[in-house]
Amino acid sequence: MKIKTAEFVMSNSNVINAPKERLPEYAFIGRSNVGKSSLINMLMERKALAKTSGKPGKTQLINHFKINDEWFLVDLPGYGYAQVSKKKRVIFQYFIENYFKEREQLVCTFVLIDSRHDPQKIDLDFMRFLGENQIPFCLIFTKSDKLPSSKLNKQITSYKKKLLQHWETLPTSFLTSSTSGLGRKEFLEFIDGVNKDVAKDFK
Ligand code: GDP
Repeated sequence: MKIKTAEFVMSNSNVINAPKERLPEYAFIGRSNVGKSSLINMLMERKALAKTSGKPGKTQLINHFKINDEWFLVDLPGYGYAQVSKKKRVIFQYFIENYFKEREQLVCTFVLIDSRHDPQKIDLDFMRFLGENQIPFCLIFTKSDKLPSSKLNKQITSYKKKLLQHWETLPTSFLTSSTSGLGRKEFLEFIDGVNKDVAKDFK
């Protein structure tokens, strides 16, 4: 797949106001600072489609982008901000939860994981939430350039092994780097394949 067009459509705090157009939709989520904005920009070959921000909690909205007039890419707020007040955090979780429960055209969610980290409770809890709500997801390991390849392979193998303590099967996963562009081709091929598979449901 070539990215011909990638346009920002709208930001919302309520899924009710999300675009009505029936297109297959793919969501990106992960802990704050996992490299989500950089990854989206790398995958879409755009410098500043998703806003990279040093300040966690700055972009607490559901952001829709239309790609090639064929599918939506959704940039969701990062979860697990320590410095957000308790009340704000509840609101944040509620609208994200609602997005996942209500958005019928969502075909796959990409849960982003920093390649250097062991499984964190917040990520595992989030994957469990997706599983319980029958929402298909893939893992994207980010920032893979930050580890030497021998360490990287060990780390990813160990991550998957630990995941198998919670899950019977492993989700599809992608190893990526926003600096080198690693994983871009595989990711776009995956989207292409899924778009073809679901085309009949979106007529
Ligand atoms: P977000 O908060 O999840 O959107 O994360 P950002 O995309 O803003 O990235 C957080 C920090 O990690 C920034 O300083 C990025 O430059 C850095 N970063 C993101 N992706 C990569 C990557 O693939 N490789 C390296 N070396 N740094 C990255």
